[in-house]
Amino acid sequence: MPNTPPDHCPDCGGRLEPVDPPAVQRCGDCGEYEFFNPIPTARVAVLDGTSSADEPSRADETSVLLAKVDVPDRDLWGTPGGMVEAGEDPDVAGARELDEETTLTVDPDDLALFDARTFVKFEATHKTCLCYAVDYADVSGTPRADDEVAAARFWTPAELAAADGHRLLTSWPESYKRLEWWVEEGRAALDRAGAE
Ligand SMILES: [Zn+2]
Repeated sequence: MPNTPPDHCPDCGGRLEPVDPPAVQRCGDCGEYEFFNPIPTARVAVLDGTSSADEPSRADETSVLLAKVDVPDRDLWGTPGGMVEAGEDPDVAGARELDEETTLTVDPDDLALFDARTFVKFEATHKTCLCYAVDYADVSGTPRADDEVAAARFWTPAELAAADGHRLLTSWPESYKRLEWWVEEGRAALDRAGAE
């Protein structure tokens, strides 16, 4: 879903003039400012293999729950997530999307925020993404593909790299396309949360 700057004033229909394009325009007729904002989204990395009672787990054994995009002939995977709805906190949105896509349920309070950034998807959609991590032990249920998802399973970075044609979403910022990034940043966030 692309989002584009408004091309006319939603209040009076007048022509907009650039103030600080593309973020800020102003109506030449009524003088109202119009702002162009990114779409807020939230994603959840469920990490398996992060917790160990006696010895620290190894990063290369940590796997991440990914949902397969329901597009024919393409093996694109992403961490479960989607758009934050009006009136919804981002962590609640992340928990809701995780449930809708994989049937797993989680208390939003157990989600650890580890990254927030704004980027442009395919040069058309402006997004702000908040990334959360949670340990699989703090999640209820067994992952099963549900709403608009073709499959749901855990992958280690090595498994995904070795799977011919399978990759993370190509529309993402560069760092998001590395499953190692999700493991490293997500584990660090869970370590910080556990130390508090
Ligand atoms: Zn106007």
